[in-house]
Amino acid sequence: MNDQFAAAHSFRMEVRRFCAGKLPADIKHKVFHNLKLEKDDYVRYLKVLHAHGWAVGHWPREFGGCEWTPLQRFIFEEETTEAGAPWLIPFGVNYVGPIIYTYASQAQKARFLPGIRSSDVWWAQGYSEPGAGSDLAGLRTRAVRQGDHYVVTGQKIWTTYVQWADWIFCLVRTSTEERPQKGISFLLVDMKTPGITIRPIATMDGYHHVNEVFFDEVRVPVENLVGEEGAGWGYGKVLLANERVLVADLGRSTRQLRLLERLARETLRGPRPLAEQPAFAARLAELKLRLHVLRAVCYQAVAEAMEGSAPGAESSLMKLRGSELRQDIAEALVDALGHAGTVFAPEAAAGEGSAPPAGPFDATGILRDHLYGRAATIYGGSNEVQRNIIAKAALGL
Ligand SMILES: Cc1cc2nc3c(=O)[nH]c(=O)nc-3n(C[C@H](O)[C@H](O)[C@H](O)COP(=O)(O)OP(=O)(O)OC[C@H]3O[C@@H](n4cnc5c(N)ncnc54)[C@H](O)[C@@H]3O)c2cc1C
Repeated sequence: MNDQFAAAHSFRMEVRRFCAGKLPADIKHKVFHNLKLEKDDYVRYLKVLHAHGWAVGHWPREFGGCEWTPLQRFIFEEETTEAGAPWLIPFGVNYVGPIIYTYASQAQKARFLPGIRSSDVWWAQGYSEPGAGSDLAGLRTRAVRQGDHYVVTGQKIWTTYVQWADWIFCLVRTSTEERPQKGISFLLVDMKTPGITIRPIATMDGYHHVNEVFFDEVRVPVENLVGEEGAGWGYGKVLLANERVLVADLGRSTRQLRLLERLARETLRGPRPLAEQPAFAARLAELKLRLHVLRAVCYQAVAEAMEGSAPGAESSLMKLRGSELRQDIAEALVDALGHAGTVFAPEAAAGEGSAPPAGPFDATGILRDHLYGRAATIYGGSNEVQRNIIAKAALGL
């Protein structure tokens, strides 16, 4: 146990050294001030990780990873996020990559894994559809086999950053004759294929995160089917289980809470800083306490994963508490801005000097993050649905 503790500590120090020395300063600056990140920022970070051998640290060595333990993976996420690394775009390295190395053919592994490791290929996730989000098994995008192609017709929605994507992995319906889950297949689609249209969805923060994607008789070679036809539901669910601890978004909440503490110290309300006003100080203390508790729950889950136990309802608990905490910290940050918290100029989030900010320099970034953060209780499985899972698992309801 002591050896394990020492190894974890030394890995944590290694990640800290990496963050101090290799994280590009301009990207860190944007992250700390909640400014707008471009595709180039995300890819540059992934490429820095790749050069260091860490882009796919949790993958098996056979496929170019470092075979990190769940604890190492957690430490990596926690430390990099706290240090100002951008969101580690998960669609390639965390989502489709593990599905490909677990279920795909040798030819597919050779074709797709290198581009994921090096981040030369941007992937998007095409699961949700209008009317099939929480109830994903109701998806209706059809893939009809015609010779050596599937002809795909239908619509996906809420597809994050598909406007930047080279490829999209989709759950599609290849049969309507069986149980809804059984007729679903996992298909890899080149975004350059004729018949694909992307329509942006504007979010409250004024930025372009999500989209609708329309497939109109899109011809996808049969060789792009992963695993067996009709088995896609099982692969898709493995993907979600892989993410069990990261859903708490601990590093991010730690970073934002530090920002809140700084703002509360520096903001005067009357003669005294906000941090010394009893009501605000109590609110801050409660948020810190919730963060400590969440961290303890995460470490408990990591310890269980280290013992090899399968993910259970605790990931729903962490998603629930993590997303609520994120939103409550964001709300406290907006309150701390005072009057400046009522003015939102999205163009100012594009960077320093692009528009005169109201209040402190990072006020617009704080507001932008607060507005987009409302989605945290919806994506990754809505919090109501997580409550149902917990109720079923813990209370047998
Ligand atoms: C910002 C953002 C990014 C996203 N990115 C992607 C992406 O890249 N790829 C992708 O495939 N999807 C993505 N999603 C979609 C996301 O997974 C779905 O929004 C989510 O699963 C909820 O589905 P829905 O939107 O269809 O809502 P619905 O399932 O229609 O739910 C509507 C409301 O009803 C509640 N509800 C539904 N069922 C139950 C129930 N049984 N009991 C109690 N309450 C219930 C929900 O909690 C919610 O409040 C993204 C979503 C957002 C907001």
